[in-house]
Amino acid sequence: MKKYENIAVMSAILQKIRDYDRIVIMRHIRPDGDAVGSTKGLQRILKLSFPEKQILLQNDDFSEKFAFLGQEDACLPDEDLADALCIILDSATLERVSSKRFSLCREIIKIDHHIEDQPYGSLSWVEDRRSSVCEMIAAFRDAFSDELLIDKEAATYIYTGLVTDSGRFRFNSTSPETLRLAALMLSEGINTDLLFANLYLNDFDSFSVNAEISRSIRITKNGVAYLRLTNADRERLGLTQEKASETLLLMESIKGSLIWLAFIENDDGSTRVRLRSRFVTIKELANRYHGGGHECASGATVYSDAELNALLSDADALLGEYKSTHDGWL
Ligand code: AMP
Repeated sequence: MKKYENIAVMSAILQKIRDYDRIVIMRHIRPDGDAVGSTKGLQRILKLSFPEKQILLQNDDFSEKFAFLGQEDACLPDEDLADALCIILDSATLERVSSKRFSLCREIIKIDHHIEDQPYGSLSWVEDRRSSVCEMIAAFRDAFSDELLIDKEAATYIYTGLVTDSGRFRFNSTSPETLRLAALMLSEGINTDLLFANLYLNDFDSFSVNAEISRSIRITKNGVAYLRLTNADRERLGLTQEKASETLLLMESIKGSLIWLAFIENDDGSTRVRLRSRFVTIKELANRYHGGGHECASGATVYSDAELNALLSDADALLGEYKSTHDGWL
């Protein structure tokens, strides 16, 4: 068995997997590459390793962007969940889990890489230094490689989350261990040309839409970059919620804008806030506005213009304070 810091809880999770005939895997709402990749990757590994067990993904929402990885499973009847083990990946809290039917399962296990604010489940394996949950699934397979089988398909799912959650191995969460585990996935023969084409090519029409949105980006006194898309804007520009939320990327390379925020109106009139930063920690700011996440990548929700403006002004003050007390930022 390989040496891993949390091998005791990892072994206990494997024992639970052995104990159950039915395992359902869930993830957070509005899934990203890590949520989709880790759930599909774990499912594939468990199907290969325990072909006699029923192993299903049970989620209520879906990502268009990651549809190229394939469909998820249809909902099991409620009564079938009573004897199931539920493994929840990449969700810091139970509120953010895509399907609320985890409560019908006999037992819950949490596997996550967000800072632990709300422990849940009979077993919880949380490593917030990990760049992604996919990295944890790769480690899980590596730790028990005598028993857990992997193939190119599973490795492709896992590599998807490794690439996307680390910003193509660019964010400072990328460690030597991330690259070691990524190398193990690559050794399964992933078609990276095809994967990167699926992840990063854009329709030609999106360039003019992005140009218009780029013109609407504003910068606060101390350098916070932000954009706002209302439901009317989205309709006019023909953007789905998911596409609209990707506009956050338009602000990631502005010099001096160490914090950038996208305000995307939800269908219910509340506004989703996507927060990103370099050097500065923005998690506490997100926490104050019904959110959370990582040091430099968080999410929040605001329920009025007043709250939106308060968040913006707090972000501006935070950046002003950072710039006045630190050197060497860009
Ligand atoms: P997003 O901007 O939605 O990609 O979120 C960035 C990070 O913050 C992800 O790791 C999310 O899991 C986390 N996050 C987003 N929204 C929330 C929220 N309302 N509460 C807690 N964590 C969140």
